[in-house]
Amino acid sequence: MKYDFIINDMVWSFSRITTFEDCPYQWFLIYIYGSEKRSGFFAEYGTFMHDILGKYLSGDLSKNRIIPYYTGNFLANVSTRPPRSATFRNYFQDGLNYLSNINFPHSNIIAVEDEIDFVFAGHKFVGFIDCLSNDDGLTITDHKSRALKQRSKRKTPTRNDEELDLYYRQLYVYAAGVKAKYGEYPKWLEFNCFRTNTLIREPFDESKLRETEQWASELISKITACDKWNPYPDYWHCKELCDVSQECEFREMI
Ligand code: SF4
Repeated sequence: MKYDFIINDMVWSFSRITTFEDCPYQWFLIYIYGSEKRSGFFAEYGTFMHDILGKYLSGDLSKNRIIPYYTGNFLANVSTRPPRSATFRNYFQDGLNYLSNINFPHSNIIAVEDEIDFVFAGHKFVGFIDCLSNDDGLTITDHKSRALKQRSKRKTPTRNDEELDLYYRQLYVYAAGVKAKYGEYPKWLEFNCFRTNTLIREPFDESKLRETEQWASELISKITACDKWNPYPDYWHCKELCDVSQECEFREMI
């Protein structure tokens, strides 16, 4: 069944389109059926760390208050348990290590958690940029709990390089938003992988922006033409990452 009347008015976002790639049925439950979303451990942890970094970078949380804030609010914000207690321990400790020695590389910060409305691939989009700074050129920084690896620079891209390219799509979508709001494309796009204290930084490349726009356009066409909303059950995704799994009958079948 098609739901053009809902989809045609939609404001798109990077996560709104990638949710469909992960599982069309998840997209249906969230955006058409309107299921209530319930975050799991990984989403709660990521949101809490983003919240702390946002407060710190906007000057609302000083360096000497950051650890008391982290330890004092951790359980209230990260209340769901991961499958293994070691995961809980490791994530808590990684956050503690990072925040204890926080050394964010930019000082000339222009915006934090910046909401930008813009048009991308011919559609209305919204983006939330974790940090926009301008020390040596306009820089988008996205905080990630995922431990991404630096690009290998090998002739044949490695699996990590391919994964990085998929993640970079998000920053190219945001780059279009920056151009719309600030009048120029960013010079640098970077991931702040805080759990491993790794900064991955690459120069903006307009050809990659065009590739991302093409990908987004094709994906949105696929979503608007969809009338089947098939589930893509995957053990890890269904149990740990899908935030509407409580309403999904397919989750019980994996
Ligand atoms: S639980 Fe799995 S199959 Fe069901 S909506 Fe979520 S990702 Fe899709």
